[in-house]
Amino acid sequence: MRRNLSRRNFIKAGAAFLLAFRVDPPLYVITVNGKILATSMGTTLIHEHFLVDFIGADKISYDRWNRDEVVKKVLPYLQEAQKYGVKTILDCTPAFLGRDVILQKRLADESGLQVITNTGYYGAVENKYLPSWAFIETYEQLAKRWISEFENGIENTGIKPGFIKISVAPAHLSDLHRKIVKAAALTHLKTGLTICSHTGPALPAFEEIEQLQQMGVHPSAFVWTHAQNEKDKTQHIKAARLGTWVSLDGIGWGDFEEYADFIDNLKRAGLLNKVLISHDAGWYKPGEKDGGDFKGYTNIFTELMPLLQKKGFTENDIQQLLVKNPAAAFAVRVRKT
Ligand SMILES: [Zn+2]
Repeated sequence: MRRNLSRRNFIKAGAAFLLAFRVDPPLYVITVNGKILATSMGTTLIHEHFLVDFIGADKISYDRWNRDEVVKKVLPYLQEAQKYGVKTILDCTPAFLGRDVILQKRLADESGLQVITNTGYYGAVENKYLPSWAFIETYEQLAKRWISEFENGIENTGIKPGFIKISVAPAHLSDLHRKIVKAAALTHLKTGLTICSHTGPALPAFEEIEQLQQMGVHPSAFVWTHAQNEKDKTQHIKAARLGTWVSLDGIGWGDFEEYADFIDNLKRAGLLNKVLISHDAGWYKPGEKDGGDFKGYTNIFTELMPLLQKKGFTENDIQQLLVKNPAAAFAVRVRKT
């Protein structure tokens, strides 16, 4: 990618960005190694996975994988991404699906990457990844657990989440999933953490946005995750106009022309500043030999960038997608309606 970008112009664009972010107190994000300035994130992949375990919330436990083996498998893929300039990765694996912050910190320390982890629960796939108490507690009780992770760290590690990750089914919000969205809203209002929700189609996305607004949370605190599953591009525009982050994040899995088309459509509407991109790649699968097939984190640079450049995307546009937007989306601050 860098071969086609003039380094000088890239740095110039970066300097303007730093000025725009010079607010007092300065905006920050939370990595597994503590707070850093949002301007220090650099090129960021906002939705990836190191490890995912699909065994289910009732059977998952940390002894299902060996951290040394996972590090050995995953580290070369992280180093490959670093060759393309990646500085920060958000690990979107939620609790009860294999979130392992000790593993995340080890990978951060051994690669030198800035890694950001999450709090929240995953409702999609017929609630298979929800812990038993998620079904009976109120949204306030669930939010209290997530806020406690923000304040005190995750499971006595001292490692704090840098965003909220939830998920809902690709349909009208069920009462249970609405409760999870409300818990996320309350957590946002208390912590300033951005809410990413594995969603897909526009129908539940707009129900989530409406629910958040009802509770006083501005759409700019919400990332519509897997928006590429909504094929009606006018919905992307509609959400972005509200201030929602439109996350086109499955670039590890092909359909590059379609991604380029979706991104270009938003750019033409003057909404490139609301677009997030990532691979949704990885991931080590416990229970499979050597963690199974692993997808690397480089298609954005090797496959998507040439297509965007053909459509006339400039260095500034690329910087917007990979540097500015992630910082603006994930800088920790409360965003009220
Ligand atoms: Zn994912």
